[in-house]
Amino acid sequence: HAGKKTIADHLRKYESLLTVTAPRMRMIVQAFEETLDKGLKKNGETVPMIPTYVFGWPSGKEHGEFLAVDLGGTNLRVCLVTLEGEGKFEVTQTKYRLTEEQKQEEGQKLFDFCAECLHSFIRDNLGRDENADHLPLGFTDRIDHGELIRWTKGFGAPNVEGHDVAAMFQESLKKFGVRAELTALINDTTGTLIASNYVDPTTRIACIFGTGCNAAYMETAENIPKMDYIGLPKDQDMAINCEWGAFDSFEHQHLPRTKYDIIIDESSNKVGEQSFEKMIAGLYLGEIFRLILCELIDSGDLFLGQNTYKLEKAYAFDTAFLSLMEADPTDELLMTIGVFNHFFGIETTLEERQFFRQLAVLIGTRSARLSACGIAAIVSKKGYLEKGCSVGADGSLYNKYPHFADRIHQALVDIFGEAGKKITTHPAEDGSGVGSAIIAAMTKIRK
Ligand code: ADP
Repeated sequence: HAGKKTIADHLRKYESLLTVTAPRMRMIVQAFEETLDKGLKKNGETVPMIPTYVFGWPSGKEHGEFLAVDLGGTNLRVCLVTLEGEGKFEVTQTKYRLTEEQKQEEGQKLFDFCAECLHSFIRDNLGRDENADHLPLGFTDRIDHGELIRWTKGFGAPNVEGHDVAAMFQESLKKFGVRAELTALINDTTGTLIASNYVDPTTRIACIFGTGCNAAYMETAENIPKMDYIGLPKDQDMAINCEWGAFDSFEHQHLPRTKYDIIIDESSNKVGEQSFEKMIAGLYLGEIFRLILCELIDSGDLFLGQNTYKLEKAYAFDTAFLSLMEADPTDELLMTIGVFNHFFGIETTLEERQFFRQLAVLIGTRSARLSACGIAAIVSKKGYLEKGCSVGADGSLYNKYPHFADRIHQALVDIFGEAGKKITTHPAEDGSGVGSAIIAAMTKIRK
């Protein structure tokens, strides 16, 4: 009927809401850079810029055997890493599933489980005699944003929280008679930075694009005024864990937030926080898509007469579905038929499916372009454009979302012009296993 909006009209609207232009990106980069500097000056700023006490790049010559424990959201992973020097390594690993029960338990019980697994891993894989030297052990906690245990923040810093973790874990190690020496508590993004640099020394930045998003890079002490009191030499390098997902939190001045981003924020359990992450990370992209579909359902423009309750449930639309729709090679968009039919019991027309794919492109592209702004801020701050550098990137979004890396690279060219081509991203090395071992090795050498 007359006046009714067509799908093309809707698409134009979402295109203008979700497109981040080159001038807009340059403005974001500038604000981002200023925010990073603020975080280095003072504690308690929006982007915390956490000092990691990882001093400088690995030499590439680190060698020896190391144990690493990676406490993730779903698994506990124990690795034996053999560093062979010259940027080479071997890894033997075993994964242990964490039960829902274990995840709810007190920190100490979780550490007991870690120690128990470590004990059986050592027995099965090392089988060395009782008098063998204690192996250095690195520990990484990747439990999401302190959802389960509050000690995620400030991990690796010599603060009370950090000490608690080390002490608690050591107690568990003792209880289970594990002969390993806890030498490093590692943040996974920092581990990714160090592991990627070990293998490719041109790596200067590491980024994670998974459930959440984050970055780490190397800063010199003279640029970290909030650490002046420690009295490090001016030119001492230290890795910084940016925790950049917090960019633009609370003030909401710089990012082009849409009403969908605001709904996600306001219905989250951390209102106002992690604003950058909420526009970028794997946890949220599917939800942005779903909210737009719900808006069109409400206005009677989509799925009239169909039962849409399954789609109307918050977070029902996984970001992996956006990947599937973007990757669909068929003219009929058969994958998309499958997604809607199988998971949501909804019939779709070809025109609708093409619209959904376009919408996925817009949401995925926005995520990549905003991510590029963060990378560009570090590049610009550190003057990496001149010589160029590699960025080690990890996480399902980076590894599985179609064109995610290409879109970041394109955005860097949009921001910097042709020179932006000198900044390239690569799949990172395993930060919580290999990175952990290298950091443990670096720590050992420094002792
Ligand atoms: P984590 O960050 O929790 O360690 P991942 O890097 O695997 O783990 O990220 C998980 C996130 O990635 C989830 O939010 C999930 O929705 C999203 N994801 C999983 N598979 C895909 C995929 N194929 N394409 C895009 N996103 C995905």
